[in-house]
Amino acid sequence: MSRPAKVTLNLEALAHNLAVIKHKAKNSKIWSVVKADAYGHGLSRLWPTLSKTDGFALIELDNAIMLREEGWLGPILLLEGFFKPEDVYLLERYSITTVVHSDWQLEAIDKAQLERPINIYLKLNSGMNRLGYRPEQYHQIIQRVKNIQNIGSITQMTHFANSDTGVNMDKQKHVIEQTMIDELPRCLANSAATLFYPETHYDWVRPGIILYGASPSGIWQDIASFNLKPVMTFSSEILSIQHVKKGEQIGYGSRYTASRDMRVGVVACGYADGYPRHAPDGTPILVNGHKTQLVGRISMDMLTIDVTDFADVTYGSSVELWGEHLPVDDVASACGTIGYELLCAIAPRVKVEIAKNGSYLSDFNRNNPVDNSQNQNKINTTFSDLNEGC
Ligand SMILES: *Cc1c(COP(=O)(O)O)cnc(C)c1O
Repeated sequence: MSRPAKVTLNLEALAHNLAVIKHKAKNSKIWSVVKADAYGHGLSRLWPTLSKTDGFALIELDNAIMLREEGWLGPILLLEGFFKPEDVYLLERYSITTVVHSDWQLEAIDKAQLERPINIYLKLNSGMNRLGYRPEQYHQIIQRVKNIQNIGSITQMTHFANSDTGVNMDKQKHVIEQTMIDELPRCLANSAATLFYPETHYDWVRPGIILYGASPSGIWQDIASFNLKPVMTFSSEILSIQHVKKGEQIGYGSRYTASRDMRVGVVACGYADGYPRHAPDGTPILVNGHKTQLVGRISMDMLTIDVTDFADVTYGSSVELWGEHLPVDDVASACGTIGYELLCAIAPRVKVEIAKNGSYLSDFNRNNPVDNSQNQNKINTTFSDLNEGC
């Protein structure tokens, strides 16, 4: 009945990746980063599999509240902090820890009428020049923050600009060492730093992309030795086969000219499903397990691939756009981007399934949709100390 374009989520792989990260950062607590709807995987369906994490970090306050309503009672961190002064009351109500990067946020917390203090991550701009206080301001800000009654625990935080390639890492690490103080906890490491720079782990690490089994550098080989597994497989099927003569063109703009007589597979997947429209000819793709390539421009609902050499490929043959057998990083690098962008771009019309490969959690999620009714009471009554110690 429905279109064959679908995403299959391997929750066993997700649990496995968290275990790999825990092993790698043994002495640190882990914020599982689930911003952008868990990097396009769907936060609601995925977070229960990550319940062994120490906390969830994200950008969106509405999703943070949803985590509470769906029953997560542990720490939650807003990675960019709150966006409007009045949001402070929601942080208090739902026990959400917030990044503070600007004076307007400090003033909002200071002025609010709160019954319970809010825990903060005080952001240092250690060289990325995006968010945070400059090194020369940082000590003074720490002193100021310590005197604000509405503020509970303070953690020092910063973000690396180059932990995937290592360029300028020493410079940024030096600024951090010179600026951060020993008495307060630290949270520095994203995925790349978690894997490649153990000396940056400190109290909490903040891995995102590696939870989902993709590479922080965009190069699959960089993480190949860590035994991380892709969580998302994006797949579809062959809808039709075209026989194209040498010299004829394929698709919009006639971008591709057949270099020989060809069999072309038309796949039921296009940019309105989240496949990148800028994918060039030659981008890798799997059909019936054979590796082949795109030929011609991506349409809204279809794309075309070379199946000349594969006689077994026919209507209904399975196509893997990326996932278990084809790293999203390989597709992304052919398209001049990184796996993050492709994962986050999966469109709402793509149906999502949980892999049936035996995880009790996948069965659990399928058969027991989250029941909020009991948790709602807990939320209203016993929230006060949830963010203790983060
Ligand atoms: C997104 C984000 C992370 C996680 O980044 P990955 O590269 O996916 O590990 C960590 N910290 C902050 C502040 C972020 O915004």
